[in-house]
Amino acid sequence: MTDLTQIPRRLEEIRQTLPEGVGLVAVSKFHPAEAIEAAAGAGQRAFGESRVQELQAKVERLGHGPYVWHFIGHLQTNKVRQLLRLRPALIESVDSLRLLDEIDKEAGRQGIVQPLLMQLHVAREETKFGFFPEELLDWFRARSFESLRATHICGVMGMASNTDDTERVEADFRLIRSVFDEIRRICPDLRGFDTVSMGMSDDYGVAVRCGSTLVRVGSAIFGTREY
Ligand SMILES: *Cc1c(COP(=O)(O)O)cnc(C)c1O
Repeated sequence: MTDLTQIPRRLEEIRQTLPEGVGLVAVSKFHPAEAIEAAAGAGQRAFGESRVQELQAKVERLGHGPYVWHFIGHLQTNKVRQLLRLRPALIESVDSLRLLDEIDKEAGRQGIVQPLLMQLHVAREETKFGFFPEELLDWFRARSFESLRATHICGVMGMASNTDDTERVEADFRLIRSVFDEIRRICPDLRGFDTVSMGMSDDYGVAVRCGSTLVRVGSAIFGTREY
């Protein structure tokens, strides 16, 4: 249940653990607009949503001004137009070339440049979406991004295996960070490629130690979600 009164304190506790230069996205999916307003009242600006419908409802209700919206969920190509119309500041979950291509085309049609992150698949789970490290590195080696017209690739996003085994989680995060570093080495001319989004409520501390620049924290701020 969303407990509005706890939000400012929880946010503050998390912020105090984050080193300078590490951003915080408050993952507000499945929580009501009131929870987002409570977080904004405590100084939070970036919010993460994982479903286009829900993001639309929240953007219509709250607008953009004090709110910066990140899309973090699996995105179907037939929802790209609707999502881009909502002007998300960052799409963190680009998990296929087909989706990237669709976003690039649609952003071109809408006359915008869409910032995004490439999602990596490193976790030991079959259900996670994303590029395998070698697949993404090959794509950058081939400089395939040069054909993009209306997207800006700002970095990578990834999730660690869902396990209590801290060593496993740490290895996953180190791999994500190393792919990011390798892309920068392969393509030193990539502009604005500076974001490593990793770390959630249960593992953001580990992620920060492993070189995260952006953590996505939901339940530790808003409480458990009711699906
Ligand atoms: C839901 C979600 C989060 C936040 O998860 P918590 O465990 O509630 O912090 C972060 N990233 C993604 C991609 C998510 O879908």
